[in-house]
Amino acid sequence: MKKASMVEGARRNVKNKTYCNFIGGKWVPAVSSRGFLDINPSDKSEIIGEFPDSDSNDVNEAIRVAKESYKFWKKVPAPKRAEVLFKVGEILKQKKEELSTVVSTELGKVMREARGDVQEAIDTAYHHAGEGRRLFGFTTPSELQNKMAFVLRHPVGVCGLITPWNFPVAIPSWKLFPAIVAGNTVVFKPASDTPLCATMLVEIFQEAGLPDGVLNLVHGKGSSVGRPLASHPDVSVVSFTGSADVGREINEICGKRLKRVSCELGGKNAEVVMEDADLDLAVEGAIWGAFGTTGQRCTATSRIILHKKIKNQFLNRFLDRVSKLKIGNALKPETDVGPVINAQRLESIQRYIEIGEEEGAKLLVGGKPLTNGNYGKGFYFAPTVFDNVNKEMRLAQEEIFGPVTSVITFETPDEAIDILNSTAYGLSSSIYTRDVNKAFRYIEESEHGVCYVNASTIGAEAHLPFGGYKNTGNGHREGSHQIYEIFTEWKTVVVDYSGKLQKAQMDDVSLNSKKK
Ligand code: NAP
Ligand code: MG
Repeated sequence: MKKASMVEGARRNVKNKTYCNFIGGKWVPAVSSRGFLDINPSDKSEIIGEFPDSDSNDVNEAIRVAKESYKFWKKVPAPKRAEVLFKVGEILKQKKEELSTVVSTELGKVMREARGDVQEAIDTAYHHAGEGRRLFGFTTPSELQNKMAFVLRHPVGVCGLITPWNFPVAIPSWKLFPAIVAGNTVVFKPASDTPLCATMLVEIFQEAGLPDGVLNLVHGKGSSVGRPLASHPDVSVVSFTGSADVGREINEICGKRLKRVSCELGGKNAEVVMEDADLDLAVEGAIWGAFGTTGQRCTATSRIILHKKIKNQFLNRFLDRVSKLKIGNALKPETDVGPVINAQRLESIQRYIEIGEEEGAKLLVGGKPLTNGNYGKGFYFAPTVFDNVNKEMRLAQEEIFGPVTSVITFETPDEAIDILNSTAYGLSSSIYTRDVNKAFRYIEESEHGVCYVNASTIGAEAHLPFGGYKNTGNGHREGSHQIYEIFTEWKTVVVDYSGKLQKAQMDDVSLNSKKK
């Protein structure tokens, strides 16, 4: 295996912080030489760097290199491939603070959560380093005598990985690590809002000794990089995490080409609070779920479904907690809620406030961007709570992806389940109750891929399957060994050692047969 070349070179021009693509082990500018700026949403006057605004020329070259590199990488034994990943985990650990600071600066995630983002990638690295020594297939009896059947995993080829900005280290790690351990090669297109996190992750692979060409990085817009990547005939599998609208488009592109595709999309998650719940715990869960990552998580608690009897008690405590949240620059240790990612997100959230008011929901708190003083420097939005929301309203149906949550009330458990399952999405949900019967009924009936009892709607773990029902995806799961359903082909092998032609489904082996 070739040793890592020097990591220097990710930055084409250190002084002006101009960064490059990574293709075939070299840091190269876009063919067009165009660039785009990456800014800090906590303070938009801070330019983090300029990144290549690539197009299909860069994508095609990265795919050509990945296709060529697949020929040797698939033959490297999986435990050897996994050694690289183990080193990636070690380097991530060493660089945790540095990388967390970049996460916080680049997308405005508060430092505590940014560390969690990086820790998730560390856990994922070790998990999949271990998978390199498993990648289990299975054996099973054959229908016929003197015949052995076993089933192996085989890599798929070149993977096109397209990721969002809200978990700029963790989500790429969920895709990159298993794809590479399984013997595939990769073209990675990260979100345009978080290109530096992606660059650092690729630098870490380089430092860990990943051979040139196995992992290629192409920066740029979804339309000019993501789309040609998904469309290219030499890309065998596309793994996408992002919005339902783009996911639908990618599914169509891949569907036409009979291409393997995994889409992890949005959510309209809910916390249900029963009348017997520990209310302090439920309030903590809702605060964390609704306003963690400024509500910009696919698992954010954007609906709080309250039993009528405890509604006032819950809301008093909840609103008190909301009023104490500190909003500000994500790097400051005292900040609870950072900015939203960009100006478009701010506008989109504001539009939902108008929609909510037009629909007759009652705005209890927040509902506006924060612009005075230092807030004017970034994209800040006040934590917002709507009351008197019903399940049909757009507020209760559509993903807002900001610090906005809606209260809906119920009287019977049937009603709670009906409201819970009434959206087109099905990512995560939670129930707070002390009644085991209510908890299990919820587990049975919730149409969500991730269900929590007495815990918030957010909090993925590297070794647990992650994904959702309905419009949250197209039926796949990330995390755990389940991810290998996306990144490997099943190969069924049958060895006949009878020395004669045996015909499955036709040659009868009778129970009394003495045939050898
Ligand atoms: P997005 O706008 O759909 O973008 C996701 C990625 O797709 C980005 O890299 C984007 O590039 C790229 N892209 C955009 N248009 C494209 C196109 N036409 N063809 C190919 N690629 C294209 O989503 P986002 O705003 O980054 O992320 C927020 C969404 O992700 C939310 O809906 C959230 O729920 C979802 N999400 C889901 C999960 C999950 O596991 N289920 C996890 C996290 C987030 P640019 O950045 O250049 O636009
Ligand atoms: Mg940015």
